[in-house]
Amino acid sequence: MPAFAKRMSQVRRSFIREILKVTADPSIISFAGGLPKPDLFPIGPMADAAARVLAENGPAALQYSVTEGEPELREWIAARYKARKNMDIDPANILVTSGSQQSLDLIGKVFLDPGDLLAVELPGYIGAIQAFSLFEPEFAGVPLTPQGPDIDRLTELLLTRKAKMFYAVPNFQNPSGMTYSLAARRAVAETLRVSDTVFVEDDPYGELRFAGEPMPPVSSFLPGGDGFMLGTFSKIVAPGLRLGWVAATPEAMPKLVTAKQASDLHSSTFVQRVLVRYLIDNDLDAHIATIKSVYGAQRNLMLERIKAEFPEGVTCTEPEGGMFLWVTLPEGCSAFDLFDLCIKEKVAFVPGGPFFVDGGGARAMRLNFSNADPDRIVEGIARMGRGIKALLAK
Ligand code: PMP
Repeated sequence: MPAFAKRMSQVRRSFIREILKVTADPSIISFAGGLPKPDLFPIGPMADAAARVLAENGPAALQYSVTEGEPELREWIAARYKARKNMDIDPANILVTSGSQQSLDLIGKVFLDPGDLLAVELPGYIGAIQAFSLFEPEFAGVPLTPQGPDIDRLTELLLTRKAKMFYAVPNFQNPSGMTYSLAARRAVAETLRVSDTVFVEDDPYGELRFAGEPMPPVSSFLPGGDGFMLGTFSKIVAPGLRLGWVAATPEAMPKLVTAKQASDLHSSTFVQRVLVRYLIDNDLDAHIATIKSVYGAQRNLMLERIKAEFPEGVTCTEPEGGMFLWVTLPEGCSAFDLFDLCIKEKVAFVPGGPFFVDGGGARAMRLNFSNADPDRIVEGIARMGRGIKALLAK
């Protein structure tokens, strides 16, 4: 068999995908995936939008298009930054991508050489770790505290060790559900301002806030549009559209466009046009309000059941938005051992270990609250409570 390229040797198969195979069994209640609730997908409005696009744009909607993305979609994204964050982003610096996942891949291609130091959060988003691994960087972790990243460690990595890139998810992070405080955002921006580090701010969950006040992006504290802001329609409309974007620096935009051209020419013309039609013809804010009320209620229920069913010594984050809770077991426990016990109880979650580039996280785990129905949340948390008690009794 021919040898595989060296770059493949660093890349782990996603552990989550492996778990999803186990949880395909419908008798298992799964808090493992990161899926939005499918009942909330706008099927009827999307069908209307698709019909209108085909009737009104016909062949153009099915033709090749420009790499940067459909102009109306880029303008819509820029207008939303203005309306929601009071940020002036030139549509010329917005590249439409096939989901944030492609933004990560393109940014990795454009900036990372083998051996470059890449700072990521501990725990960090596994899909980004996987995407960046293909460019063979050296990963270094920045521990997250309830307020935000450990600034001393970030300063060491960015200023002393001259990290090439820092990748962060400041709102309702995947996997921890944590959010950077305003002070932490300013402190991170201060450190970035005096460094040469590329800052990648990934924000798929920012619009899904059900408590507290919205926070400005870290990048909004950086001068002159420094920083790369990633967004996606996956959590506010539907992930199967595979549409996201990166708001890039003007200098990097041509490189990103070239990288995207080489990769897939452009994201689907038809799907972009259908999405634009959907966004114009419908009230997205009302739709997001519905998503938030459902997810918020499910989060409250999961937290309430965790307090009732999990033994003393188990802690849990209380995120103000997003889709995930982060549970930590008492000292000496292993979430992998718990996983095996819980599969016997027919309930699944993701053990924390794979989210840590430094090999930590043995006691932690991620629970998703957006996908399961309320009765499955109640039953699943009761099953997990039994699993944890069995683990502690060992
Ligand atoms: N970034 C983060 C932090 C995520 O949680 C996800 C989805 N799991 C993505 C990026 C990828 O999202 P998409 O490619 O669907 O936009």
